[in-house]
Amino acid sequence: MKPSAFEYHLAASTNEAVDLLAEHEGDAKVIAGGQSLVPLLALRLARVDHLVDVNRLNDLGEISANGRLRIGALTRHRTAERSTLVRQHSPLLADALTYIGHTAIRNRGTLGGSLAHADPAAELPATLLALDGEVEVRSARGTRTIAAGDLFTGFLSTSLEPDELLTGLSVPLWKPGAGWSVQEFARRSGDFAISGALTVLSVGADGLIDEARIALIGVAPTAVRATLAEQALVGQHPAEALWSSVSDAAVADLEPPSDLHGSSAYRKKLTSTLVRRSLAEAASRIGAAA
Ligand SMILES: Cc1cc2nc3c(=O)[nH]c(=O)nc-3n(C[C@H](O)[C@H](O)[C@H](O)COP(=O)(O)OP(=O)(O)OC[C@H]3O[C@@H](n4cnc5c(N)ncnc54)[C@H](O)[C@@H]3O)c2cc1C
Repeated sequence: MKPSAFEYHLAASTNEAVDLLAEHEGDAKVIAGGQSLVPLLALRLARVDHLVDVNRLNDLGEISANGRLRIGALTRHRTAERSTLVRQHSPLLADALTYIGHTAIRNRGTLGGSLAHADPAAELPATLLALDGEVEVRSARGTRTIAAGDLFTGFLSTSLEPDELLTGLSVPLWKPGAGWSVQEFARRSGDFAISGALTVLSVGADGLIDEARIALIGVAPTAVRATLAEQALVGQHPAEALWSSVSDAAVADLEPPSDLHGSSAYRKKLTSTLVRRSLAEAASRIGAAA
């Protein structure tokens, strides 16, 4: 199939892009890597009157680490995956990026596009949640930041307004010595995960866990944090038995969807196993260099 007719605008600057979004508010969509939007348009699962192409906006492709790790929205997955700044300041993000589709997808797909698309099976929304990150957005009305916890509002839905351009994301610089893990399961390499768990764990001078963050993929309409499990970990000694008990708690209140890839009960069991593995791996990396 072919997309329904639309008017194509190639924005030459960020100002022009936000002006176009304001002018055609509600009838315009941004196109970045096109890896999610083009299939939706071609299958006519989405239609749009105006397409605003941001691929010429080189200022949205920068990576810096001054106080926070900041990555421009137009940065390709593959560029971020190979960035030494990203590896140094956010090893969880560097690892999560390698799970996105295949190299060809990662060469085109952008970090901003993935966050704006907000697929609950995608790696980056869960990564932003696990890192307590935020996104920067811009419109003709000004700029604002949105915390990860306020960004994902439902299946493929965000709190971005129709005239807002996502310009970048930022996450705190990596806490020295923190452990991390990305665990997910897909039937074939490169497929979207059936479910997944991303974990950050750190231990204080007293040997007790002082911070635990777990984000889950593919178990709800949005990526979610396993807050009850996180709370159960803090103040405890890292131990194999703890991972098992907490992994059950992590999925206790979830009602994952059933689909052709697996039933709700299967996803719950799978996710519990992935949480246990991610806790064990994160603990084994505490104190290790990224
Ligand atoms: C075969 C295949 C396998 C894939 N596997 C995975 C996978 O395993 N994991 C995974 O996470 N993803 C996967 N993807 C999706 C891929 O990561 C996409 O790159 C990503 O979802 C969207 O990024 P994009 O730059 O291509 O966005 P686009 O497709 O250009 O846009 C996606 C949406 O975001 C909006 N948007 C884009 N940029 C902005 C912006 N700056 N501001 C506001 N709105 C914006 C668009 O309007 C659109 O609604 C796969 C895709 C394909 C085709």
